[in-house]
Amino acid sequence: MGVDQETMLEKMEKGFDPEQVIEEFEALTKDAKRVQVETLKKILKDNGEAEYLKKWCLDGKTDPESYSSCVPLATHKDFEPLIQQIADGAPYPILTGKPITTITLSSGTTEGKRKFVPFNDELTETTMQIYRTSFAYRNREYPIGNGKALSFIYGSKQFKTKGGLLAGTATTNVYRSEQFKKTMKEMQTPCCSPDEVIFVPDFHQSLYCHLLCGIIFRDEIQVISSTFAHSIVHSFRTFESVWEELCFDIKTGTLSTRITVPTIRTAMARILRPNPELADKIHEKCLSLSNWYGLIEELFPNAKYIYGIMTGSMEPYLKKLRHYAGGIPLLSADYGSSEGWIGANVNPTRPPEMATFAVLPHIGYFEFIPLRDTGAGSPDHGEPESQLIRVEPRPVGLTDVEVGEEYEVVVTNFAGLYRYRLGDVVKVVGFHNSTPELQFICRRNIMPPINIDKNTEKDLQLSVEAASKLLAAEKLELVDFTSQVDLSSDPGHYVIFWEVSGNATDEVFQECCNCVDLTFIDAGYVSSRKVQAIGPLELRILKRGTFQKILDHYVGLGCTLNQFKTPRCVGLVNRPVLQILYDNVVKSYVSSAFGKGCRVCE
Ligand code: AMP
Repeated sequence: MGVDQETMLEKMEKGFDPEQVIEEFEALTKDAKRVQVETLKKILKDNGEAEYLKKWCLDGKTDPESYSSCVPLATHKDFEPLIQQIADGAPYPILTGKPITTITLSSGTTEGKRKFVPFNDELTETTMQIYRTSFAYRNREYPIGNGKALSFIYGSKQFKTKGGLLAGTATTNVYRSEQFKKTMKEMQTPCCSPDEVIFVPDFHQSLYCHLLCGIIFRDEIQVISSTFAHSIVHSFRTFESVWEELCFDIKTGTLSTRITVPTIRTAMARILRPNPELADKIHEKCLSLSNWYGLIEELFPNAKYIYGIMTGSMEPYLKKLRHYAGGIPLLSADYGSSEGWIGANVNPTRPPEMATFAVLPHIGYFEFIPLRDTGAGSPDHGEPESQLIRVEPRPVGLTDVEVGEEYEVVVTNFAGLYRYRLGDVVKVVGFHNSTPELQFICRRNIMPPINIDKNTEKDLQLSVEAASKLLAAEKLELVDFTSQVDLSSDPGHYVIFWEVSGNATDEVFQECCNCVDLTFIDAGYVSSRKVQAIGPLELRILKRGTFQKILDHYVGLGCTLNQFKTPRCVGLVNRPVLQILYDNVVKSYVSSAFGKGCRVCE
């Protein structure tokens, strides 16, 4: 089974057989090492004429050893000027043999800056490959009949670069492709909303109509999905505030005046008919729910599961999603990025917190930088030299990783990225045949150090989760959170921003503040706090709706709602988001932990 065999398109012509997909995946993963060698060979052969590869003097060699000794590890910064040349229309092969015709824009939510990434048909093809693989395994456990999906998906604006290349988000590039529609149909879950609803510049209008279509087709809805769990939660939070208007539209068969885009109005007019019976039923159900518990189950009686990425920075939304879901299972989706897909969730019955991703050995060439005491350095942010033994990191191959170890992922894809440090940390938790099963841990270097602290995005998430239990006791919920490392004070300190569903007493918030400070377990942080090399943590409470403003800000920059991830640490370069945060603080608390009477210090 090799990468040279029939293409995805050819397979699709023959129709989709989930059992055959599983059989192929099993064969590929049993032979992962050889498949990786072949995949690398194909990538290097196809792109042998690219200037980037010529520069590293591979001289036609395609084996892994020559590749890793000739071509250096690189970050997006290294590729940026080359991608810019491509976007500007350079007439010679820079990164790939075949010309790149489309550029993907990453969400930009991690670092506050959107990245350009080359995109081509091969990436669409690998996307379909991963969709079909995880679907095949999912379908064994949760078979679905012919029906529809309520998919909260949005196409962003596409624009032409200076060189005339089409640019848009990765999801937009995929949703616009014919392969996507065909694959969704084959999986028996075409989106219940018409294209006019998906591809609109105003996501508020789009979301309203997704909800409306979902209710109209409620008996046919088998799956509720979006790329990330955040977007599903956001959609049902929105439902809470627009449900009466939705019911009115259904009762009267008229579309709310909030929908102003003519193409959506025309498309919705084809679907919307007066249906007082349905409107009354939904109205009654909404009134009968206690705090919207089980909303999704009530709205969609035939839904088999809720599907989206629920791991990593999406975990904080699981509690709310479970609340809305009632008895409907949550199934965590696959692992990938604008730079390409990596692994499929082939164990769909695992709870989302335990989800793992089996790497598809034929969709890219993968290397892994071990993170245990390697001094592997930072791909982008550059930790202080003194804290690291500067050694060139030595990645290991896909099948050489060790169970229990953490690694940074390095990708070589079919669209011109070579030994590209993705910046994600994963843990190997086992093997599926001979391909590793990865657990997503966090993005690397999200929180810059103040002293000798090494807190990660995951550490922040865990501390916030622990402290937010104090809110739950008050029947309040944490809507969302982020942080800032404030170096303007001496010593520097962490600032945590919380949006909460209601008001708690000062005592409760003060306790939450102390709790976040105390539950960071990183030894560097704890010792620095004890000797005052890091100042007391600050908790700032935000006005309701602040994170909606942050989302609107990113969407205004061209990010789509379905690719949005709340930035967990906002750097100074991300001035507009910091400004939104600062402008919306209503209360602030300074930690009194690590002071006199603190249980940790005494
Ligand atoms: P983007 O830059 O918008 O393409 O987002 C890609 C990033 O989203 C990845 O590099 C990961 O950090 C994160 N991501 C993607 N898939 C998953 C997943 N299954 N679990 C956790 N994080 C993920």
